[in-house]
Amino acid sequence: MARIAEEVGTPAYVYSAATLLHHYDAVAAAFSELDPIICYSIKSCANVHVCRRLREQGSGFDVVSGGELYRAVAAGGDPAKIVFAGVGKTDEEINQAIDARIGWFNIESEAELENLIALARRRNASVRAALRVNPDVDPKTHRYTSTGKKETKFGVDLERARRVFNQYGRQDSVRLTGIHLHIGSPVNTVEPYVAAIEKTLALIDELRADGFAIDTLDIGGGFGANYKGSEAPPAVKYAEQIVPLLRGRGLRIILEPGRSIAANAGILLTRVLYRKTSGERDFLIVDAGMNDLIRPALYEAYHFIWPVRPAEGFVTNDRGVDLNRPGLRLMDVVGPVCESGDFLAKDRMLPPMDRGDLVAVFTAGAYGFVMASHYNSRPNPPEVLVEGDQYRVIRRRETYDDLLAAELL
Ligand SMILES: *Cc1c(COP(=O)(O)O)cnc(C)c1O
Repeated sequence: MARIAEEVGTPAYVYSAATLLHHYDAVAAAFSELDPIICYSIKSCANVHVCRRLREQGSGFDVVSGGELYRAVAAGGDPAKIVFAGVGKTDEEINQAIDARIGWFNIESEAELENLIALARRRNASVRAALRVNPDVDPKTHRYTSTGKKETKFGVDLERARRVFNQYGRQDSVRLTGIHLHIGSPVNTVEPYVAAIEKTLALIDELRADGFAIDTLDIGGGFGANYKGSEAPPAVKYAEQIVPLLRGRGLRIILEPGRSIAANAGILLTRVLYRKTSGERDFLIVDAGMNDLIRPALYEAYHFIWPVRPAEGFVTNDRGVDLNRPGLRLMDVVGPVCESGDFLAKDRMLPPMDRGDLVAVFTAGAYGFVMASHYNSRPNPPEVLVEGDQYRVIRRRETYDDLLAAELL
């Protein structure tokens, strides 16, 4: 890490290829009995090199925009293993996806489906679609990331799903032969999946009885990642309860994991700029801010933070930190952005650190760089991929010229 910081500078996102592939393989192995199509959710960590490594491992892609479809194709993604979700697909994006011959459109509303039918007809195309249903289960996650309750903008409820099939399920331009679910993220228990899948299987039975040939069930993503300790079940724990529900059902199963693959495959590497005490509070001011990693500000998300080289006597990278250990200090870790919401951590017991020390912000591989912005005109950090004992810059640090590049000087 010190070498990367020296050569690439800070802040920087650093990913481990081995961890990324290890997480992918764990999902693939856990669900292997169902022979699922695993569509890595690009929005969690979108770098084309990351996507390419996962594609080489057999992954397809879950995309939610034309830009992500562009990335999936650039990464060499097999179009047949691309699914396209999102409540607001534009005509351009839909046409782009029809032309790319993607595997499935995941449909979120009647209006969208009607538009897809019209656009497919205009192109004389026949596309495959899955209807996103909203099984009304509570995934018990943050209100901003819960998507499977009745009152969200995503999908249609089960009752409405029947009507959608009756109205649109018997035409050829859009073959409506799948059901899609994505109940939220992160979902750190298996029960919401079980409840959602059971409700959905009942719907599929009814639809089949009515003559609709449902052959695909996409159960979405949302598997948890360990931010604090071991709060997220490993892939096998999800599979243990999900696989028995789905075996022998004559359904092609699709999974869309993002966070569970990427989150712990990446850290944000940052450097201490200053220490400051205000009143009773100790602040550690680092060179990464909310524009680089917005999750703490946006979702009150927890990221474990620890010095890369802790002072003598403090263990390296152990999330089971003994908070009563003498010498630890209660600190807020904050960035340079002009917002009081610009913090990476609040009330954290940390070893003594000084100007110049390197700090690792853990579990930053998912929803980290992809949510970076230029707020305060801060160029985006680079992304680095470590493979074995080598590292490669897979996205360079932006320059001031990049900030102005689109402003037509
Ligand atoms: C975001 C998203 C995912 C991935 O969720 P994770 O929690 O990162 O696994 C999968 N499917 C859809 C439709 C999504 O919007």
